[in-house]
Amino acid sequence: SMASPALLMRVVASAYSVAEKAATIVRNVMAAGDLGIVEKTGANDLQTKADRLVQMSICASLARKFPKVTIIGEEELPTDEVTEELIEDGHCEEILKKTCPAQYTEIKEEELVIWVDPLDGTKEYTEGLLDHVTVLIGIAYGGKAIAGVINQPYYNYEAGADAVVGRTIWGVLGIGAFGFQLTEAPAGKHIIVTTRSHNSTLVNDCISALNPDSVIRVGGAGNKIIQLIEGKASAYVFASPGCKKWDTCAPEAILHAVGGKITDIHGNSFQYNKEVKHLNSAGVLATLRNYDYYASRIPNTVKQSLVP
Ligand code: AMP
Ligand code: MG
Ligand code: MG
Repeated sequence: SMASPALLMRVVASAYSVAEKAATIVRNVMAAGDLGIVEKTGANDLQTKADRLVQMSICASLARKFPKVTIIGEEELPTDEVTEELIEDGHCEEILKKTCPAQYTEIKEEELVIWVDPLDGTKEYTEGLLDHVTVLIGIAYGGKAIAGVINQPYYNYEAGADAVVGRTIWGVLGIGAFGFQLTEAPAGKHIIVTTRSHNSTLVNDCISALNPDSVIRVGGAGNKIIQLIEGKASAYVFASPGCKKWDTCAPEAILHAVGGKITDIHGNSFQYNKEVKHLNSAGVLATLRNYDYYASRIPNTVKQSLVP
């Protein structure tokens, strides 16, 4: 008889379905019209009913199937019983059919850390910029992001009545990433994607120093990695603290699975073990190609302002 699939593949296959359930919740909360907005640290750091319900759904669903995995979600929530209608029990069969890379076949539940951003781009969600929004489930082992799921609940939402709205992108190091068309950015052009709602002088000075051909300002870390892998932008540059481990874990796994690179602004890789501090205090630099071109042009003055 066939050996049962490796734990990692079962976790990714479940995370795929859990993220699709999450996307349904994100759309349903918006459609119902009562966002229940709460300010966390201020007006640019919001939580909605969708952030709360989705985090409960993702964390409870994955914890039920994989009780010994460490799951770290963005939102601080009361530890109430989660209602059964929020639980997703399904998985993606196609993922289970892929062969687990040899170095991951022996991973145990206790060794995995799952970083959950239930709704990335909340500010934009509240402003109706719906395709900026993603649901992020990142899977780490040995401190490294090794697998991830990015769901974009409103992908294609302006494409007309026949279009299927929403998509799920997933990836594992050593297997690749799926659910989108990998596309190179225009050759010889420096197109930078950065924050829309968390600007600062430092953020803008850093971008200016890179002498870009154009700058795309959109919400969400997940959304910005999608811009890189679909060839819309050549570098994601954010010279500021603010991004957290749940913002970068799933995007990092998917970007690295297709040969890209993400680090802080100094070039340090991110760590995702459960004890790590949540804040990526030295910003973000990510590319699909030509990482060194951008890394070598980050001004020292910018680096000195951002302590890892
Ligand atoms: P942005 O590119 O501004 O959409 O940010 C990407 C992710 O980092 C989102 O989850 C933001 O909420 C988070 N983030 C970035 N900067 C800040 C900040 N100054 N305060 C709170 N969250 C931030
Ligand atoms: Mg986020
Ligand atoms: Mg969030």
